[in-house]
Amino acid sequence: MINHLYDALFGPHLGRDTSFLILPDGRSISHAAFLARAAQMAGALRVAGLRPGDRVALQLEKSAEMLAVIAGAIQAGVIFLPLNTAYTPAELSYFITDAEARLLLADPSRMGALAEMASAAGVPLMSLGSDGTGDFGMLAATQPERSATEPRAASDLAAFLYTSGTTGRSKGAMLSHGNLLSNAEVLAREWRFTRADVLLHALPIFHTHGLFVATNVALIAGAPMIFQPKFDADEVIRLLPQATAMMGVPTFYTRLLADPRLDRALTAHMRLFISGSAPLLAETHRDWEARTGHRVLERYGMTETNMNTSNPYEGDRRAGTVGIALPGVEVKVCDTTGAELPRGEVGVIEVRGPNVFQGYWRMPEKTREELRDDGFFITGDLGTMSADGYVTIVGRAKDLVISGGFNVYPKEVEELIDALPGVLESAVIGVPHPDFGEAVVAVVVSEAQEGATVEAIRTALQGQLAKFKQPKHIEMRAELPRNTMGKVQKALLRAELKDLFSV
Ligand code: AMP
Repeated sequence: MINHLYDALFGPHLGRDTSFLILPDGRSISHAAFLARAAQMAGALRVAGLRPGDRVALQLEKSAEMLAVIAGAIQAGVIFLPLNTAYTPAELSYFITDAEARLLLADPSRMGALAEMASAAGVPLMSLGSDGTGDFGMLAATQPERSATEPRAASDLAAFLYTSGTTGRSKGAMLSHGNLLSNAEVLAREWRFTRADVLLHALPIFHTHGLFVATNVALIAGAPMIFQPKFDADEVIRLLPQATAMMGVPTFYTRLLADPRLDRALTAHMRLFISGSAPLLAETHRDWEARTGHRVLERYGMTETNMNTSNPYEGDRRAGTVGIALPGVEVKVCDTTGAELPRGEVGVIEVRGPNVFQGYWRMPEKTREELRDDGFFITGDLGTMSADGYVTIVGRAKDLVISGGFNVYPKEVEELIDALPGVLESAVIGVPHPDFGEAVVAVVVSEAQEGATVEAIRTALQGQLAKFKQPKHIEMRAELPRNTMGKVQKALLRAELKDLFSV
């Protein structure tokens, strides 16, 4: 038995002196140097007592060192849990206890804040700085620059990614070696990545998008990454001429569009812009094409399934859609029993394929609720499929508003509001209402100059929407609450506005 994931990502296809990471200070780390450090990390994990199948929790700054620990974990057969750097000690305590982590690695600056929690949870805590400092960094430095690669089967677990858990407890999605490998292979092929690419990487790497999509695709293709700590429009504009591809969340695209320096000349060297993790407005897609001449390629996936659909590289990249099922992935739009609906009808998206996770760690009931016996995963996303297989996401099933017994799909209302003059964006939610069960509420961000008014929005919608879909309350805000992946936090808005109609 061999370790196919390790070989595919870190095998001999990587050049020795070819550059892998181009860092903000202009330094570059070669593939060979990275692999040597990864082997040291594998050695350090073993010395720290971790055996294949054990878990290491990582709350680390985005850095080459963090990627090297991940590579070392894959090499040593250790399961890794990348955790959001924003999590508090109390939140971390849940993840490391739930996962029964054998080691927690954190930035040296966090030692004081985490020591008490780690000792209460009974988990050894070691430090690793972005510059290789910290006791774990030092331990790794004493290890050989080559390490044995642990054999792993496709079904062996590679990583736990905890879902963001806007409702209820966060769940540990178990991703196998086979899950990660199949998606990396398919995406690199579908998006035509080669070693001639340079990927501009400004996403976090504790999330599926920045780690299993962006990083794994670059690795499997042998392409270097311009590795930015976070998205900064000025930096991205400075670096775009050195890149050939960028993967981003929709806010990357809207923020870049807001900058007058974005034009055809700046993006002339680019081969591909990809968007995902949250809906890209059709308007943004069109504006991007008008300004740069590039049609953004939008794709759709989630923590539990990796990527499911993508617009085609060659062919019709359809604005407002997330494209068609990736090769090897089955996608269908179903009623609540799992029966497929006729094309064009709104239903729940279900997916099956080698990309779909192994279930939620130690939550067999939750797993059974969402993963059918026949292997289809109930995504919880509502969408439609066109006659030729293009999927359009309408929203999360839990965001569906049921007012007076009628279904209201937030996206339908949001699209109309967003198209009105003076509106920047909007979020439509349902809040409890004594008569209707739920009432439609719109939270709207207007443009700075000549912004829209509540009255103008109300009047405009009257002619366009059935009465039950019209917002019973419209609220103007300076911005919408978003998480780090650019997703609008509707649960937060619902909580804030829950008493709007209480009697
Ligand atoms: P996460 O597990 O954090 O990656 O979130 C996954 C969810 O993000 C999906 O279930 C969708 O609701 C949403 N999502 C991802 N990509 C897209 C997209 N291209 N358009 C709309 N929603 C998306």
